[in-house]
Amino acid sequence: MTRREFLIAVAAAPAVQKRGGTVSTVAGPVAAASLGVTLTHEHVLVDFVGADRVSPSRYDRDAAFARALPHLERIYSLGCRTLVECTPAYLGRDPELLRRLSRASKLRILTNTGYYGAADDKFLPPHAFTEDPDQLAARWIREAREGLDGTGIRPAFMKIGVDAGPLSDVDGKLVRAAARTHRATGLPIYSHTGNGVAALAQVAVLEAERAPLSAFVWVHAQNESDQAVHVQVGRRGAWVSFDGVSAQSLERHLGNVLAMREARLLDRVLVSQDAGWYHVGEPDGGTYRPHDLIFTDFLPALRARGLTEREITQVMIENPRRVFTGGQ
Ligand SMILES: [Zn+2]
Repeated sequence: MTRREFLIAVAAAPAVQKRGGTVSTVAGPVAAASLGVTLTHEHVLVDFVGADRVSPSRYDRDAAFARALPHLERIYSLGCRTLVECTPAYLGRDPELLRRLSRASKLRILTNTGYYGAADDKFLPPHAFTEDPDQLAARWIREAREGLDGTGIRPAFMKIGVDAGPLSDVDGKLVRAAARTHRATGLPIYSHTGNGVAALAQVAVLEAERAPLSAFVWVHAQNESDQAVHVQVGRRGAWVSFDGVSAQSLERHLGNVLAMREARLLDRVLVSQDAGWYHVGEPDGGTYRPHDLIFTDFLPALRARGLTEREITQVMIENPRRVFTGGQ
Protein backbone atom coordinates (compact mmCIF):
# COMPACT_ATOMS: atom_id res chain seq x y z
CA MET A 1 0.00 0.00 0.00
CA THR A 2 1.32 3.43 -0.92
CA ARG A 3 1.11 6.47 1.31
CA ARG A 4 -1.67 7.82 -0.95
CA GLU A 5 -3.67 4.58 -0.73
CA PHE A 6 -3.27 4.70 3.03
CA LEU A 7 -4.65 8.22 3.18
CA ILE A 8 -7.61 7.16 1.03
CA ALA A 9 -8.28 4.24 3.37
CA VAL A 10 -8.14 6.58 6.34
CA ALA A 11 -10.54 9.02 4.72
CA ALA A 12 -12.98 6.22 3.88
CA ALA A 13 -12.96 4.77 7.38
CA PRO A 14 -15.93 5.75 9.49
CA ALA A 15 -15.20 7.64 12.69
CA VAL A 16 -16.22 4.48 14.51
CA GLN A 17 -16.48 5.92 17.98
CA LYS A 18 -15.80 9.58 17.42
CA ARG A 19 -19.44 10.44 17.05
CA GLY A 20 -19.79 9.17 20.57
CA GLY A 21 -22.59 7.27 22.13
CA THR A 22 -22.24 4.02 20.18
CA VAL A 23 -19.96 1.05 20.77
CA SER A 24 -19.52 -1.97 18.47
CA THR A 25 -20.23 -5.26 20.22
CA VAL A 26 -19.94 -8.69 18.61
CA ALA A 27 -23.75 -8.63 18.22
CA GLY A 28 -23.86 -5.15 16.70
CA PRO A 29 -23.70 -1.52 17.83
CA VAL A 30 -25.17 -0.52 21.19
CA ALA A 31 -25.57 2.74 23.08
CA ALA A 32 -22.50 3.33 25.23
CA ALA A 33 -24.78 4.23 28.12
CA SER A 34 -26.08 0.64 28.09
CA LEU A 35 -22.68 -1.05 28.66
CA GLY A 36 -23.24 -1.14 32.40
CA VAL A 37 -20.93 -3.06 34.74
CA THR A 38 -17.96 -4.08 32.59
CA LEU A 39 -15.10 -6.53 32.98
CA THR A 40 -12.47 -4.78 30.91
CA HIS A 41 -9.96 -7.59 30.38
CA GLU A 42 -11.00 -11.24 30.09
CA HIS A 43 -10.52 -14.14 27.66
CA VAL A 44 -12.94 -16.79 26.45
CA LEU A 45 -10.51 -18.79 24.33
CA VAL A 46 -6.76 -18.71 23.67
CA ASP A 47 -4.49 -20.79 21.45
CA PHE A 48 -0.79 -20.45 22.19
CA VAL A 49 0.39 -22.60 19.29
CA GLY A 50 1.83 -19.60 17.41
CA ALA A 51 0.95 -17.46 14.39
CA ASP A 52 2.21 -20.07 11.92
CA ARG A 53 -0.27 -22.76 13.03
CA VAL A 54 -3.22 -21.06 14.72
CA SER A 55 -6.60 -21.88 13.14
CA PRO A 56 -10.25 -22.38 14.17
CA SER A 57 -9.90 -25.89 12.74
CA ARG A 58 -7.78 -26.77 15.77
CA TYR A 59 -10.80 -26.85 18.10
CA ASP A 60 -14.46 -27.75 18.34
CA ARG A 61 -16.36 -24.48 18.53
CA ASP A 62 -19.39 -26.22 20.08
CA ALA A 63 -17.23 -27.63 22.87
CA ALA A 64 -15.67 -24.23 23.59
CA PHE A 65 -19.13 -22.65 23.58
CA ALA A 66 -20.48 -25.21 26.06
CA ARG A 67 -17.48 -24.74 28.33
CA ALA A 68 -17.58 -20.93 28.44
CA LEU A 69 -21.34 -20.29 28.54
CA PRO A 70 -22.02 -21.16 32.23
CA HIS A 71 -19.22 -18.80 33.28
CA LEU A 72 -20.72 -15.93 31.29
CA GLU A 73 -24.21 -16.68 32.61
CA ARG A 74 -22.78 -16.66 36.11
CA ILE A 75 -21.37 -13.12 35.85
CA TYR A 76 -24.53 -11.89 34.15
CA SER A 77 -26.43 -13.12 37.21
CA LEU A 78 -24.02 -11.11 39.39
CA GLY A 79 -24.82 -7.89 37.52
CA CYS A 80 -22.08 -7.85 34.88
CA ARG A 81 -23.40 -6.60 31.53
CA THR A 82 -20.31 -6.29 29.30
CA LEU A 83 -17.15 -8.36 28.91
CA VAL A 84 -14.15 -7.12 26.94
CA GLU A 85 -12.56 -10.15 25.25
CA CYS A 86 -8.88 -9.43 24.79
CA THR A 87 -7.68 -12.39 22.72
CA PRO A 88 -5.99 -10.88 19.65
CA ALA A 89 -5.66 -12.17 16.10
CA TYR A 90 -3.16 -15.08 15.77
CA LEU A 91 -3.84 -16.04 19.41
CA GLY A 92 -7.29 -17.52 18.89
CA ARG A 93 -9.56 -14.50 18.41
CA ASP A 94 -12.90 -15.98 17.34
CA PRO A 95 -15.60 -13.34 16.75
CA GLU A 96 -18.14 -15.93 15.61
CA LEU A 97 -17.82 -17.90 18.85
CA LEU A 98 -18.10 -14.68 20.85
CA ARG A 99 -21.27 -13.68 18.99
CA ARG A 100 -22.89 -17.03 19.79
CA LEU A 101 -21.90 -16.68 23.44
CA SER A 102 -23.18 -13.13 23.61
CA ARG A 103 -26.58 -14.10 22.21
CA ALA A 104 -26.90 -17.07 24.54
CA SER A 105 -25.71 -15.30 27.72
CA LYS A 106 -27.16 -11.81 27.02
CA LEU A 107 -23.74 -10.44 28.00
CA ARG A 108 -22.38 -7.77 25.65
CA ILE A 109 -18.96 -8.82 24.37
CA LEU A 110 -16.36 -6.55 22.73
CA THR A 111 -13.56 -7.82 20.49
CA ASN A 112 -10.51 -6.29 18.86
CA THR A 113 -8.19 -5.64 15.94
CA GLY A 114 -4.41 -5.25 16.16
CA TYR A 115 -1.36 -7.50 16.61
CA TYR A 116 0.34 -8.84 19.73
CA GLY A 117 4.10 -8.30 19.75
CA ALA A 118 4.80 -9.55 23.30
CA ALA A 119 6.17 -13.07 24.02
CA ASP A 120 9.12 -12.41 21.70
CA ASP A 121 6.92 -12.00 18.61
CA LYS A 122 5.71 -15.61 18.49
CA PHE A 123 2.19 -14.41 17.72
CA LEU A 124 3.01 -12.03 14.87
CA PRO A 125 2.34 -12.95 11.23
CA PRO A 126 5.30 -12.60 8.81
CA HIS A 127 3.90 -9.41 7.25
CA ALA A 128 4.12 -7.63 10.62
CA PHE A 129 7.90 -7.65 10.19
CA THR A 130 7.99 -6.42 6.60
CA GLU A 131 5.20 -3.84 6.39
CA ASP A 132 5.49 -0.25 7.60
CA PRO A 133 3.22 1.33 10.24
CA ASP A 134 0.88 2.79 7.62
CA GLN A 135 0.42 -0.59 5.96
CA LEU A 136 -0.36 -2.27 9.27
CA ALA A 137 -2.70 0.56 10.23
CA ALA A 138 -4.50 0.18 6.90
CA ARG A 139 -5.20 -3.49 7.70
CA TRP A 140 -6.63 -2.59 11.13
CA ILE A 141 -8.64 0.33 9.74
CA ARG A 142 -10.10 -2.05 7.15
CA GLU A 143 -11.11 -4.43 9.94
CA ALA A 144 -12.69 -1.53 11.85
CA ARG A 145 -14.68 -0.61 8.74
CA GLU A 146 -15.55 -4.01 7.26
CA GLY A 147 -15.42 -6.31 10.26
CA LEU A 148 -13.25 -9.26 11.28
CA ASP A 149 -12.53 -12.45 9.35
CA GLY A 150 -15.51 -12.08 7.01
CA THR A 151 -18.04 -12.07 9.88
CA GLY A 152 -19.06 -8.42 9.63
CA ILE A 153 -18.34 -8.19 13.37
CA ARG A 154 -16.58 -4.92 14.12
CA PRO A 155 -13.88 -4.44 16.74
CA ALA A 156 -14.46 -2.01 19.63
CA PHE A 157 -10.76 -1.57 20.34
CA MET A 158 -7.22 -2.46 19.36
CA LYS A 159 -5.21 -5.06 21.24
CA ILE A 160 -1.50 -4.88 20.75
CA GLY A 161 1.35 -6.16 22.91
CA VAL A 162 4.93 -5.22 23.67
CA ASP A 163 7.65 -6.93 25.68
CA ALA A 164 9.24 -5.48 28.83
CA GLY A 165 11.95 -2.84 28.56
CA PRO A 166 12.70 -0.44 25.70
CA LEU A 167 10.56 -1.09 22.62
CA SER A 168 11.97 -3.44 19.99
CA ASP A 169 11.73 -2.22 16.39
CA VAL A 170 8.66 -4.27 15.64
CA ASP A 171 6.99 -3.40 18.96
CA GLY A 172 7.56 0.31 18.33
CA LYS A 173 6.07 -0.12 14.88
CA LEU A 174 2.92 -1.72 16.33
CA VAL A 175 2.47 1.26 18.66
CA ARG A 176 2.85 3.71 15.78
CA ALA A 177 0.38 1.71 13.67
CA ALA A 178 -2.05 1.71 16.60
CA ALA A 179 -1.73 5.49 17.02
CA ARG A 180 -2.49 6.02 13.33
CA THR A 181 -5.43 3.60 13.46
CA HIS A 182 -6.77 5.48 16.45
CA ARG A 183 -6.56 8.77 14.63
CA ALA A 184 -8.57 7.28 11.73
CA THR A 185 -11.14 5.29 13.68
CA GLY A 186 -11.27 6.50 17.27
CA LEU A 187 -10.66 2.94 18.54
CA PRO A 188 -8.87 2.84 21.91
CA ILE A 189 -5.51 1.07 22.15
CA TYR A 190 -5.15 -1.74 24.66
CA SER A 191 -1.50 -2.72 24.97
CA HIS A 192 -0.27 -5.78 26.84
CA THR A 193 2.80 -4.22 28.42
CA GLY A 194 5.72 -6.01 30.09
CA ASN A 195 6.61 -3.30 32.65
CA GLY A 196 6.71 0.40 33.45
CA VAL A 197 9.68 1.09 31.18
CA ALA A 198 7.68 -0.26 28.23
CA ALA A 199 4.60 1.73 29.31
CA LEU A 200 6.54 5.01 29.37
CA ALA A 201 8.18 4.18 26.03
CA GLN A 202 4.73 3.72 24.48
CA VAL A 203 3.50 6.97 25.98
CA ALA A 204 6.42 8.71 24.25
CA VAL A 205 5.60 7.12 20.89
CA LEU A 206 1.93 8.05 21.18
CA GLU A 207 2.81 11.65 22.01
CA ALA A 208 5.16 11.79 19.01
CA GLU A 209 2.31 10.42 16.87
CA ARG A 210 -0.07 13.05 18.32
CA ALA A 211 -2.47 10.39 19.61
CA PRO A 212 -4.29 11.38 22.81
CA LEU A 213 -3.12 9.40 25.85
CA SER A 214 -6.77 9.00 26.88
CA ALA A 215 -6.90 6.43 24.05
CA PHE A 216 -4.18 4.30 25.64
CA VAL A 217 -4.87 1.45 28.08
CA TRP A 218 -1.78 0.22 29.93
CA VAL A 219 -2.70 -3.46 30.17
CA HIS A 220 -1.18 -5.48 33.04
CA ALA A 221 -0.01 -2.38 34.92
CA GLN A 222 0.26 -4.67 37.96
CA ASN A 223 3.41 -6.10 36.32
CA GLU A 224 5.11 -2.87 37.40
CA SER A 225 5.67 -2.96 41.16
CA ASP A 226 6.56 0.74 41.46
CA GLN A 227 3.24 2.49 42.12
CA ALA A 228 4.85 5.84 41.34
CA VAL A 229 4.94 4.77 37.68
CA HIS A 230 1.19 3.97 37.75
CA VAL A 231 0.59 7.47 39.10
CA GLN A 232 2.93 9.03 36.55
CA VAL A 233 1.21 7.35 33.60
CA GLY A 234 -2.26 8.06 35.01
CA ARG A 235 -1.39 11.75 35.44
CA ARG A 236 -0.41 11.90 31.77
CA GLY A 237 -4.01 10.90 30.98
CA ALA A 238 -3.64 7.20 30.07
CA TRP A 239 -5.69 4.34 31.52
CA VAL A 240 -3.98 2.17 34.12
CA SER A 241 -5.40 -1.36 34.02
CA PHE A 242 -4.96 -3.63 37.05
CA ASP A 243 -6.37 -6.67 35.32
CA GLY A 244 -4.88 -9.72 37.01
CA VAL A 245 -7.21 -10.01 40.00
CA SER A 246 -7.05 -13.56 41.40
CA ALA A 247 -7.20 -15.10 44.85
CA GLN A 248 -3.39 -14.97 45.05
CA SER A 249 -3.05 -11.38 43.82
CA LEU A 250 -6.07 -9.84 45.54
CA GLU A 251 -4.08 -7.84 48.10
CA ARG A 252 -1.67 -6.49 45.50
CA HIS A 253 -4.53 -5.31 43.31
CA LEU A 254 -6.30 -3.72 46.27
CA GLY A 255 -3.10 -1.87 47.13
CA ASN A 256 -2.67 -0.63 43.57
CA VAL A 257 -6.25 0.67 43.37
CA LEU A 258 -5.99 2.36 46.77
CA ALA A 259 -2.71 4.05 45.80
CA MET A 260 -4.37 5.48 42.70
CA ARG A 261 -7.29 6.66 44.81
CA GLU A 262 -4.84 8.32 47.20
CA ALA A 263 -3.36 10.14 44.19
CA ARG A 264 -6.90 11.18 43.14
CA LEU A 265 -6.60 9.15 39.96
CA LEU A 266 -9.46 6.70 40.39
CA ASP A 267 -10.88 8.18 37.18
CA ARG A 268 -7.97 6.52 35.27
CA VAL A 269 -8.25 3.03 36.80
CA LEU A 270 -9.62 -0.17 35.26
CA VAL A 271 -9.85 -3.52 37.06
CA SER A 272 -10.37 -7.00 35.66
CA GLN A 273 -9.18 -10.59 36.09
CA ASP A 274 -7.59 -11.80 32.84
CA ALA A 275 -9.58 -14.97 33.55
CA GLY A 276 -11.31 -17.61 31.43
CA TRP A 277 -9.03 -19.18 28.84
CA TYR A 278 -10.44 -22.22 27.11
CA HIS A 279 -6.99 -23.52 26.15
CA VAL A 280 -7.00 -24.91 22.62
CA GLY A 281 -4.95 -28.10 22.54
CA GLU A 282 -5.75 -29.18 26.10
CA PRO A 283 -8.41 -31.82 26.89
CA ASP A 284 -11.80 -30.06 27.06
CA GLY A 285 -9.96 -26.73 27.05
CA GLY A 286 -8.06 -27.39 30.28
CA THR A 287 -8.83 -25.35 33.39
CA TYR A 288 -11.26 -22.49 32.72
CA ARG A 289 -10.80 -19.78 35.37
CA PRO A 290 -14.17 -18.29 36.42
CA HIS A 291 -14.80 -14.59 35.81
CA ASP A 292 -16.65 -13.98 39.09
CA LEU A 293 -13.98 -13.20 41.73
CA ILE A 294 -14.30 -9.43 41.24
CA PHE A 295 -17.94 -9.64 42.25
CA THR A 296 -17.62 -12.18 45.06
CA ASP A 297 -14.38 -10.98 46.66
CA PHE A 298 -12.69 -7.93 45.15
CA LEU A 299 -15.51 -5.37 45.22
CA PRO A 300 -16.50 -6.34 48.79
CA ALA A 301 -12.85 -5.94 49.80
CA LEU A 302 -12.69 -2.48 48.18
CA ARG A 303 -15.84 -1.49 50.05
CA ALA A 304 -14.31 -2.78 53.28
CA ARG A 305 -11.27 -0.57 52.61
CA GLY A 306 -13.48 2.48 52.28
CA LEU A 307 -14.40 2.82 48.63
CA THR A 308 -17.84 4.41 48.28
CA GLU A 309 -20.57 3.12 45.98
CA ARG A 310 -19.95 6.21 43.87
CA GLU A 311 -16.30 5.18 43.46
CA ILE A 312 -17.20 1.55 42.69
CA THR A 313 -19.58 2.80 40.00
CA GLN A 314 -16.82 4.97 38.60
CA VAL A 315 -14.40 2.04 38.27
CA MET A 316 -16.86 -0.63 37.09
CA ILE A 317 -19.23 1.40 34.87
CA GLU A 318 -18.12 4.94 34.11
CA ASN A 319 -14.43 4.37 33.39
CA PRO A 320 -15.06 1.47 30.96
CA ARG A 321 -17.72 3.50 29.15
CA ARG A 322 -15.28 6.41 28.82
CA VAL A 323 -12.58 4.11 27.40
CA PHE A 324 -14.89 3.11 24.56
CA THR A 325 -16.28 6.59 23.90
CA GLY A 326 -13.18 8.70 23.54
CA GLY A 327 -11.43 8.34 26.88
CA GLN A 328 -11.95 11.86 28.22
ZN1 LIG B 1 -5.11 -11.03 28.79
